[in-house]
Amino acid sequence: MGHPLLLNRADELKECEFNTTELKELIQDLQDTQHHHGGIGIAAPQIGVSKRILLIEFYQKDITRYDDMGDCPLKVIINPEINHIGSTESVFNEGCLSVPGLRGEVSRPISIAYKYYDEFGVLHEGQDDGIFARVLQHEIDHLDGILYPMRMQDISKLAFVDAVPSE
Ligand code: ZN
Repeated sequence: MGHPLLLNRADELKECEFNTTELKELIQDLQDTQHHHGGIGIAAPQIGVSKRILLIEFYQKDITRYDDMGDCPLKVIINPEINHIGSTESVFNEGCLSVPGLRGEVSRPISIAYKYYDEFGVLHEGQDDGIFARVLQHEIDHLDGILYPMRMQDISKLAFVDAVPSE
């Protein structure tokens, strides 16, 4: 947080950039960084690359802070677009690799329709109203220069991870 690149709109990936060694290396770099920090999603601007690429990957067995997340094997998500379905929102305690040590409550739409390309240029479309929808919205915000504290309605709900009493 504080790096100017995290406040930029990242560039679309061009057709000639799919299916390349450079892209493969970038994806590996993102995945290594994500695994190192124990994250569930990461966007290219977070490692200094201003392109519209993000990864989402999580497995319930590795995650203690949320129940009932299920598993999401690695998804490489390029040039994503989302539309909100309905106006119902939910509040969720989010964290971010670019805002280490902190968590904060953010309200976001529950249900989305999404569209994105994978690393081979194949189009994927679908709908989701679970943790994937939440993480995808957080990561797309990174591509648009938005960090989750900028979405918080009540900044008093920003807290150090260690400061939140466990129930
Ligand atoms: Zn983040």
